[in-house]
Amino acid sequence: MSHPGVDGLLSPRPRFRDAYQTLGRYRDAGDQRAGIDLSDNTNLWGAPPAAARVIGDAMGAIARYPAAYATTLVAGLADYCGVGLDMVVTGCGSDDVLDAAMRAFADPGATLALPDPTFPMAATLAQMNGLTPVAVPLTRARHIDVDALVETDAPIIYVASPSNPLGVAAPASTLEDLVDRAPGFVIIDAAYAEFAGSYAATVCALARRSERVLIVRTMSKAWGLAGLRIGYACGAPRLIAEVEKSRGPYKVSILGERVATEALRLDGQWVAARVAEAVANRDRLAAALTVLGLPPLPSDANFLLVPVAHVPGGASAVTTALRALDVSVRSYPALRGIGDAVRITVAPWLVMARFLVALEAALAVWRASA
Ligand SMILES: *Cc1c(COP(=O)(O)O)cnc(C)c1O
Repeated sequence: MSHPGVDGLLSPRPRFRDAYQTLGRYRDAGDQRAGIDLSDNTNLWGAPPAAARVIGDAMGAIARYPAAYATTLVAGLADYCGVGLDMVVTGCGSDDVLDAAMRAFADPGATLALPDPTFPMAATLAQMNGLTPVAVPLTRARHIDVDALVETDAPIIYVASPSNPLGVAAPASTLEDLVDRAPGFVIIDAAYAEFAGSYAATVCALARRSERVLIVRTMSKAWGLAGLRIGYACGAPRLIAEVEKSRGPYKVSILGERVATEALRLDGQWVAARVAEAVANRDRLAAALTVLGLPPLPSDANFLLVPVAHVPGGASAVTTALRALDVSVRSYPALRGIGDAVRITVAPWLVMARFLVALEAALAVWRASA
């Protein structure tokens, strides 16, 4: 029954959060995957060997709840990152950890400064938490603009390094400068750290430099476990405790915790070998793209960003033409300072070779139409 008199005055109709009105669902390829899917920067060599062994054995355990805070996995990750047990928090993918951190580090209505371009989910997660994203352009040389980020006075600064979609890693000195001068918390998203040599250790060391920096990482990329959703972060114990409160219990499933723990224990060499191959293939792919007149930007990750503003129809024409050939890459229309671009995940060379054949076929059509 409705009470029109009361409705408009004392109890306004239920209303959804304002910031949600401009948000849409995340678009992905999960439901309709192309034969050659180079769109999501996952490990295209597959899952680590531990996964197959552990998943069969877990049947008896999954009727119960997992450990509330995945303490066994935390121990494995702390060892992997070279930090204390009280310096690691896990989550349902690193998106979940970012989400929890944004809630823990500021009240709704505050700002979050981030480079433009950067990982698009960062601004979305900020909005989902009632924060206002403030986009700060990169410098002319396409580096993080530390001065401009600091000048926003935002209580949270987010950067991805190696960056996504650019691929480039900020020098350690730049991150140190940012951490030292930031007015509030700094979130460093190091999802691709494994592909940048000793960078992972360098970035994790920042967690000991300041109590205000959170290093967010994931097992979705180099570790080949995107489908199990294992994200984590390193930081000072006090910081980690707050993020864990914000995150809540049971975010890592029993299957996820077991596979990830076993993979960390036994599959480090497997991952290192795939990473080495991905890096070699990345450089080989970069050379092939350059020969085709599509030089990519420098990358420290497992993908390449290729500016395509000069191709007729730009990013959308490239992705559409490739999709018709059963190849999927990520389209980035009108990136600030770069223009249209496409992002290509590095795969085993057999797959890269098939991709290049498709790309050459598409290029021939564009050249004919130009
Ligand atoms: C892929 C990616 C993530 C998300 O990883 P999940 O752990 O799968 O949620 C986070 N940050 C960046 C920069 C990424 O590219």
